[in-house]
Amino acid sequence: MTRPPKKTRLANKSKLRNTLRKLDGVRRGAVAQIDRGAAAQEALDFLALLCGLKPVFLLGRGVDDPPWIRGVLQIAIDQGLYVIEGPYWDAGGKDNGLPDWFRDHGASAFREMRAHYICRARATADEVEAVCAAASSDKALTIAREARLLGYPECCVSAHYARNLAYQKLWLEMLSDQSGGDEAEMRRKLTDSTPLDPASDEMRQRLEAAMRLHPAPFTSINMCDSCRESADSPARRLSAQYRDLAGAIDPGLENELKTAIAMNSPTAFG
Ligand SMILES: [Zn+2]
Repeated sequence: MTRPPKKTRLANKSKLRNTLRKLDGVRRGAVAQIDRGAAAQEALDFLALLCGLKPVFLLGRGVDDPPWIRGVLQIAIDQGLYVIEGPYWDAGGKDNGLPDWFRDHGASAFREMRAHYICRARATADEVEAVCAAASSDKALTIAREARLLGYPECCVSAHYARNLAYQKLWLEMLSDQSGGDEAEMRRKLTDSTPLDPASDEMRQRLEAAMRLHPAPFTSINMCDSCRESADSPARRLSAQYRDLAGAIDPGLENELKTAIAMNSPTAFG
C-alpha cells in the first residue's frame, strides 16, 4: 500500500478523541488482558462506527476478554448507541455438502455463542434485531447482508465462509482417515473431541492453507485472494480509509496499529 495519507476532516474530532481515551482507559484497566494491538484495532473499529464508516460494531467475537467487553459496552451505552446481544451470525448456508451429523455437531457448539452488535442508527438496530431473532432460519442472513452491516467487502466475507467450509471438509477427511471411513467411529471421535493430526505433510499443508489469514491493515477484514492481489481493491481501499481515519483522530493510534501490523505481518507494508 503506497498511497499517500489523505487529510481526513472530522466533524466531531473532540468526541472521537475523547472516546479513544475512554477505550484506552478500559485497556489499561487492571483486569483487561487484551493486547495493545488488538485493543487499538477494536478502538479504530468503534470510532469507524461513530463516523458512519461501518453500520455495526461487532463486540465479543474474535476478541474474548470479558473486562474489555464490559468496558466497551458501558461506553456504547453512555453514548446512547443501540446494543443488541445475539447469537453468532452464520451466513454460510446449510446446503454445503457436509453430512448432517457433522454439521449438527458444529452448529450446536456455535449456537451457545453470544456477541454484542452495536449500532448508531435505529434502522440498523432494527435490522440487526431481526437477523438475530431469525438466526436459526436459513434465510435470515445472506453474505451480502452481513457484509453491508459490518461494512466489509462482500467478496471477503464470501471468502471467509469458503475458507471455513474448506477447513470443515479437511476435518471430516481427517476423521475419515483415522477411522478407516467407518461412520460410527467418525461420530464417536467427533463427540469425544479426539485430537486430529494431519496424517501427511500434504494434508498439513492443505490445513495450513485453509487456516491462513490475510488481514487488511488497519481493519478487522481478512482479505479474499482478489483483494489481496490488487493494490486498488475493495479491502485495500477500506484499509486506506481506516488508516486515514486513525491518523486524523490521533497519530498515536495510527502508529500503535502500524507497530502491531508490522509485528504480525512483516510484509504488510511491502
Ligand atoms: Zn475481497
